[in-house]
Amino acid sequence: MVGRFAPSPSGRMHLGNVWSALLAWLSVRAAGGTMLLRMEDLDTARCRPAYAEQLRDDLRWLGLDWDAEQPPQSLRTAAYAAAFARLEAQGLVYPCYCSRADLHAASAPHAADGRVLYAGTCRGLTAEQRRAQKKPPAWRLRVPDAVYGFTDGLCGPYSENLARACGDFIIRRADGIYAYQLAVVVDDAAGGVTQVVRGRDLLTSTPRQLYVQRLLGLPQPEYCHVPLLLSADGRRLSKRDGDLDMGALRQRYTPEALLGRLAALAGLIPPGETASARELVAVFSREKLPQNDLPLRGQF
Ligand code: GLU
Repeated sequence: MVGRFAPSPSGRMHLGNVWSALLAWLSVRAAGGTMLLRMEDLDTARCRPAYAEQLRDDLRWLGLDWDAEQPPQSLRTAAYAAAFARLEAQGLVYPCYCSRADLHAASAPHAADGRVLYAGTCRGLTAEQRRAQKKPPAWRLRVPDAVYGFTDGLCGPYSENLARACGDFIIRRADGIYAYQLAVVVDDAAGGVTQVVRGRDLLTSTPRQLYVQRLLGLPQPEYCHVPLLLSADGRRLSKRDGDLDMGALRQRYTPEALLGRLAALAGLIPPGETASARELVAVFSREKLPQNDLPLRGQF
């Protein structure tokens, strides 16, 4: 069993990232598996090596160790280019010249979760129409009018008709950067990842990732999307909640106090106890985890 934690080094880890990292780590360690760390630094404008170093330091402080680190995504362009070429050879990739404004104008109806359904504007452009364009295109992958589904380890069965839920999606941006949906699939396969434990915000990305896996002939890991920590007013925690980033948390708590609180939220130990990461391995079981997102009520 091989699992991974794949953070984006675009700022200091916050409580929501720690929560996901802890649950991914416990799933691996409780099964005696191998834990990989991978820096998802595709977004070169926002990601910094210093944040990656800080992330490693924060994980070490928490006691969430890893057995190997995969190369960061910024060094994996050749692997993504090879995957892109294989999709292109299947006749499934086309250039898209739509601006953000075009996409919004043409995007009704919106998918239920707020994603923009791509209307297929550039799907049928002729070679001549493409030549007449003046700006570099993004590249989209054609999706079939077909359902892609899987059984999530926590959420149960989940599926989407790709054509209706998102439409043809971007696998390479106009600035040349390969998209997360392509890179994550290539990297999980390269690492031999068999179990993906990550936040539930990524549940709706999974059908697209299954589609890319199948086109590339890659194995499908087991997926488990854990509930999200929410602020008291119901928002997803983010880097904007500065008082809950690791800089602030490390001043207020010991690792055991912080992990103890998270473990209580996860249903692993009673509230008020402290625990090291190692101690939590023995009490971890996926069946104990909560089903729904968790609004924080002053626990931290
Ligand atoms: N890099 C993504 C994030 O930090 C996680 C991607 C994944 O786990 O598949 O949100």
